[in-house]
Amino acid sequence: MSTSLESTKHVKFLKRHLLMLPSSQQSHDVNRIAIIFYSIVGLSALGVDCSREYASSIPYIYQHYVKLQIPGYEEVFSGFVGSLATNVSNTSCISLPNTLFALLTLRIMKCDEFFQKTVDRESLGNFIRKCQYPDGSFASVLDMNKPTPSPVDSTDLRFCYIAAAILRLLGCETKEDFEEFIDVDRVIDYMMTKKCDFGGFGDYGETHAGYTSCALCAFQLLHGLDKLDSEFKERTVDWLLHRQVSNSGTVLLQEGKNPYYDPEENGGFQGRENKFADTCYAFWCLNSLKILDENEFNNVCRAGLAQDYLLTKTQNNLIGGFSKNDEDDPDLYHTCLGIAVLQLMNGTFDGIFCIPKQFAP
Ligand SMILES: [Zn+2]
Repeated sequence: MSTSLESTKHVKFLKRHLLMLPSSQQSHDVNRIAIIFYSIVGLSALGVDCSREYASSIPYIYQHYVKLQIPGYEEVFSGFVGSLATNVSNTSCISLPNTLFALLTLRIMKCDEFFQKTVDRESLGNFIRKCQYPDGSFASVLDMNKPTPSPVDSTDLRFCYIAAAILRLLGCETKEDFEEFIDVDRVIDYMMTKKCDFGGFGDYGETHAGYTSCALCAFQLLHGLDKLDSEFKERTVDWLLHRQVSNSGTVLLQEGKNPYYDPEENGGFQGRENKFADTCYAFWCLNSLKILDENEFNNVCRAGLAQDYLLTKTQNNLIGGFSKNDEDDPDLYHTCLGIAVLQLMNGTFDGIFCIPKQFAP
């Protein structure tokens, strides 16, 4: 059984997802930008120089950057579409997630020219501004007839994080910088309503590790972490630590008390209480822990159980990649986040932006 990172196999696994680049192949895949992002993050975290290997694909990524004007409105909006297929038929497909994925990809590709010259800060800022609801939350797309946040889209903590991260990539640093585009106090007020009694953040009072990570990253980006009182932070740290499945037995996870307890998952992390361990939640939990309590984060890293779980249970030694758990086939998302969390524990990865440290702002 392997206990080291199978880098060569992971690089092959990830590169297979990029065979569609540059643009020769027609596809109706609406998630192209996401596929490119997860692949490029994984490859760059494994030391591949993507700016060199995929330089010829940069113009293709640029094509996903769209500026649009709505009849009857003066403002121009801009952002990224997830694929060129969606762009042709419908101009309303610029979205916050695709915009963040593309901007982070372009950072890894060292496209300074895009950030200095190509991107239109004003119109991209207009797009983000219009995605914000009066309560501070964000939709990820606009209803392009109005333009207002799309009523068919959800609003949740992910989009608060994404909006803040995009603005940071556009150069916003101080609260005043962010205020040029969004109402920072209202974002923070909205995120405060998602605090849960047992610590962390989630919907309907149920803490969720993914939402917790998004919220903490957004608080950090918007300089709002000190708005969270120390008692809440402690409860959150405690909740996060208890998401790690342990054979040596916390009360919560002992066999018999938790029907989802599986001794094979020792060291893995759950995303919610009473759920099975999952590769991606190691990232969401540990990223959250690192933001709140670097000491506890280092303790978990030093113990080595999380690394052991990922390398021996969810890493695929034959074809490369990581899977969600010790049963499923490897997939791109869990491969990216499996590599990401291992590099986060190594100290070479930026969890706030989910890219290798050297490319983070
Ligand atoms: Zn997962």
